[in-house]
Amino acid sequence: MLEARDLMVFYENMLALNNISIKCDDNQIVGVFGANSAGKSTLMYSLSGIMLDIRKKEDMSGGERITLTGEVLFQNQNIMDLKPSLRAKAGIILCPERRRLFKESSVLENLRIGGYLATKAQAKYTLDYVMNMFPALQKLKNRLGGFLSGGEQQMVAIGRALMAQPKVLLLDEPLLGLSPLMQATLIKATKVIQEETKISIIIAEQYARPVFPIVDYAYILENGAAVMEGTGGELMDNPDVKSAYFGVS
Ligand code: ATP
Repeated sequence: MLEARDLMVFYENMLALNNISIKCDDNQIVGVFGANSAGKSTLMYSLSGIMLDIRKKEDMSGGERITLTGEVLFQNQNIMDLKPSLRAKAGIILCPERRRLFKESSVLENLRIGGYLATKAQAKYTLDYVMNMFPALQKLKNRLGGFLSGGEQQMVAIGRALMAQPKVLLLDEPLLGLSPLMQATLIKATKVIQEETKISIIIAEQYARPVFPIVDYAYILENGAAVMEGTGGELMDNPDVKSAYFGVS
């Protein structure tokens, strides 16, 4: 489904991704875990193609030189040079870090904006689906994005991404800054969404602990390199992971 092979990204001479190979198969939830600055967002931008836009912007403004090497494959085709809009059209949808809602637009407008790639029928169906998945949004329909709590914003961000009809959904740090209760709600919803829609999901998180139980497979990133990988169960049993993520040795 979606795969990175030997991916390297440099910001000038700074190596942000060091020969990363990761894979998300059909119908899977894959975790990418790592501390601040491990390279999670760089990986998500490279998979969604936004890195090409960032590179272009930097080139045009005479800013920093960004270099990408390796391959990104979607359904076995190399899409390394495919622009982000076409990747989105093909079904690779990023739900970005810090949600990035349109703060001056209502919840409903934010969701509808996500549906620009969908047919009318798909948009209607998905909007109903999102409202059922996150009932809290029903009474907030007309509230502006800027006046929502972090958890509500994250629900809208996931809903907006679903409106774009993903085949693979990239969730970049969806739990950032949320309460444990809200984290649990979102993780449970992520699992249910995957089971019901069969969308593949890649979830990048610093807070691996609540996410481990729902992943089929996961990678641990350190300084831009994947230093460990395995099924959720394998990693949870690994002593190094236990001491790093669960505070036990
Ligand atoms: P966080 O949890 O803080 O978002 P992350 O795991 O997503 O971290 P990245 O944002 O991918 O990590 O950053 C990886 C490394 O690349 C970091 O050292 C970061 O400082 C650096 N970096 C990210 N973006 C740029 C940029 N535009 N220019 C230079 N260095 C960058």
